[in-house]
Amino acid sequence: MVIIETAKELIEYLKIYRNKELGFVPTMGALHNGHLSLIDASLQANEITVCSIFVNPTQFNDTSDFDKYPRNFDKDIALLAERGCDVLFLPTLESMYQRESLLSFSFGALECVMEGAHRAGHFNGVALIVSKLFNIIKPSRVYFGQKDLQQCAIIQSLIKDLSYDIEFNMCPIIREGNGLAMSSRNQRLSESEKEEAKALFASLELTKTNLLSGKSIKEAVDLSKEYLKNNISFELEYLEVANAETLQEIDSIEQGQEYAICIAGFLGRVRLIDNIVFVG
Ligand code: AMP
Repeated sequence: MVIIETAKELIEYLKIYRNKELGFVPTMGALHNGHLSLIDASLQANEITVCSIFVNPTQFNDTSDFDKYPRNFDKDIALLAERGCDVLFLPTLESMYQRESLLSFSFGALECVMEGAHRAGHFNGVALIVSKLFNIIKPSRVYFGQKDLQQCAIIQSLIKDLSYDIEFNMCPIIREGNGLAMSSRNQRLSESEKEEAKALFASLELTKTNLLSGKSIKEAVDLSKEYLKNNISFELEYLEVANAETLQEIDSIEQGQEYAICIAGFLGRVRLIDNIVFVG
């Protein structure tokens, strides 16, 4: 695996692959099996796979979350090389941001809910770094995880609105045996917290079961909030049932429509998110 640290060098290096199918997996590192499933998907469909690891400061609305974000570059490099990734882009901060960018993106209603509503400026930072990476790497296909469902919708908008000639792929959420969605931030949880955190996925499943058995959205959400209270000391930010495409909250479930149930909040000082998508 080739490791490249500046945008200039990567652009030069990728010139030999310009007419090849190139798959790209952007990450912030502290890699786990969720990330590696995206690498596998890219390896299967492309001639060359590029992974980036960059803890992007502009998408953090909380500096302590940025400072404490796990960084295990040596382990990440070993995991990617073992998996068969061709190129790792590990840019320096200066290489990605020569100056403070004043560009701003608007995603309308899509960014006014859930993560967008709770993390001011988050999606602006995501859109900025992802656009930069797309322009440097010029991938044929990109791989993102359903774990960040709203991010997937934002990137799909970006691809459409900026006419990127890129195929977008959303990969399923990889979970621990107890249901906890894998996340780099899980490294900051104790073993007992990891066990407690299985209640998040359980609460999503409970909401779905109650909705499918005919309960109203309010009833189903209230029952799940009660379940969370009894099973985990979780500071809930939101538990929402939304249209799976627009991510806007809905009033009732219609048969055959796709819905997402999304949850976010803090377990101790660690912010966790999860979601499930289902058909009504
Ligand atoms: P991150 O390093 O957290 O920015 O994540 C990089 C990519 O991996 C994003 O597209 C995430 O949605 C995806 N990802 C993170 N966790 C998982 C998971 N448990 N299963 C599948 N994809 C994931």
